[in-house]
Amino acid sequence: MWEGNQLVVSQQTETFYNLIGKDWRPSLSGETFPVTNPADQRIVLGICQQSTAKDVDDAVREAKKSLPTWKGMAAPKRGEYVRKTAQLIEDHSAEFLELLVKEVGKSRADAQAEVTRTIRVMRFLAGEAERLTGENIPSWDAGITGYTKREPVGVVGVITPWNVPLAISAWKIATALVCGCTVVFKPSSQTPLVSLKLIEAYLANDLPPGVLNVVTGPGSKVGDAIANHPDVKAISFTGSNAIGTHINQLVAKRGARFQAEMGGKNPFVVLEDADLDLAAEHVIAGGLGESGQRCTATSRVIVLQEIADKFVQKLTDKINRLKIGDPIDEQTDMGPVIDQSAMESILNYIETGKQEQAVLVTGGYRLTGEEHINGWFIAPTVFRRVTPEMTIAQEEIFGPVISVMEATDFEQALEWANDVKYGLSSSIYTNDMHRAMAFINNIEAGLTHVNMPSTYSEPHYPFGGVKATGIGGMREVGSTAIDFYTEWKTVYIKPHAK
Ligand code: NAD
Repeated sequence: MWEGNQLVVSQQTETFYNLIGKDWRPSLSGETFPVTNPADQRIVLGICQQSTAKDVDDAVREAKKSLPTWKGMAAPKRGEYVRKTAQLIEDHSAEFLELLVKEVGKSRADAQAEVTRTIRVMRFLAGEAERLTGENIPSWDAGITGYTKREPVGVVGVITPWNVPLAISAWKIATALVCGCTVVFKPSSQTPLVSLKLIEAYLANDLPPGVLNVVTGPGSKVGDAIANHPDVKAISFTGSNAIGTHINQLVAKRGARFQAEMGGKNPFVVLEDADLDLAAEHVIAGGLGESGQRCTATSRVIVLQEIADKFVQKLTDKINRLKIGDPIDEQTDMGPVIDQSAMESILNYIETGKQEQAVLVTGGYRLTGEEHINGWFIAPTVFRRVTPEMTIAQEEIFGPVISVMEATDFEQALEWANDVKYGLSSSIYTNDMHRAMAFINNIEAGLTHVNMPSTYSEPHYPFGGVKATGIGGMREVGSTAIDFYTEWKTVYIKPHAK
């Protein structure tokens, strides 16, 4: 818990509560659930509240009550809370890093990257509070002053996934707060602890009660209650397509605003003139970093046939040197997947790949050595000769599985790259500007990269996907992030009333 401005790590298993108004409270259900370490499921990291729709109702009431005061505060002052909280996280980045490693199973390098991204995105968004600008528009009547101004949309619901629990929660909440919205936040039940530490950091900076409320628990109860609540005017969701489309239907019925960032099946095209060592290293970084559990993960490598043997050899040589284990160990390159159900789903995809005649090059099994048996570890897996109609070429596996597809030429590589329902990230490796530009202009994706991993992004650039990846057509982070959380008001003034 935070005591004053100090993050105190308890030796005993800590119980975490919902934040409703000014109080940390147990759920009205009286039930809790444990959060465990995916590298060793015997370790319980914390106990959280198994909440109900009634808890959500209480949280929304507090958020609604605090809205007029928060909205009435000068926007740059709201930004100050975000800026100071970013500073507190930076001062305690080692503790945040360690919790990400233990709770999510990220390597130390990946956890450090998430902490850094969190601090940067919060600082950038704090500055947006000073840039909530409108337009001054000349009227046809010289006696009229006309302009537009942004106003907060109201109480917003924030629902986040387990895989980036600090940064995604941080950027949605920070954007809502600088725009003058109050928040009811539901973190993922798999990784709620680091998200709750973020909220505690806001409170340590004296955020007024009720501005930020947190309710943990099952998506089917807590998430749906947020989606259905008539006083929640907008919901920002990141997660799977199945849940995103489900919430979209609930929200559409009552006409509230909805933004969803969902899955990906990101292509990584390697042309014959590419630096193959660099490309192989970046396939590993993008495809196996965070055990492949990123929305922007490199999951399809589309390589030209003439270099396929050479490239696959380089890739597997490098993969076979990786150390897979508990990420608390600094030597570890790749940690576990998040839980048993994820592990089983990934192993099922691997079986399907074999049945559909893809060629398994390396991996393809659960690791069961002494170091691995209490966690959810899968050997890094590469399939080749994957063709576009195969399940492993189409569906998001969300695990350490890379599908190599062998195309005859650039045109076929581009066609295959676009031949999925998703449209989040993409990369091409080449020194040929002509084909790089053709890729940039024709790839159906919200993000694209030339000679850079599919996972690369910076918090002051817009982030989000097209096709089935995104609902709402708005981008998160970057300067356009404020669009989702604000409404336009158009003002006409005639100072000399006649
Ligand atoms: P998920 O959809 O299972 O859960 C996301 C959130 O929704 C969680 O908080 C969960 O508790 C909640 N939820 C679950 N059931 C619900 C229901 N019936 N009603 C309302 N809320 C409900 O996703 P996940 O497994 O946590 O995250 C992995 C997915 O997220 C992957 O598909 C990944 O690609 C995607 N993701 C996308 C981005 C992006 O920016 N595009 C970023 C990170 C993760």
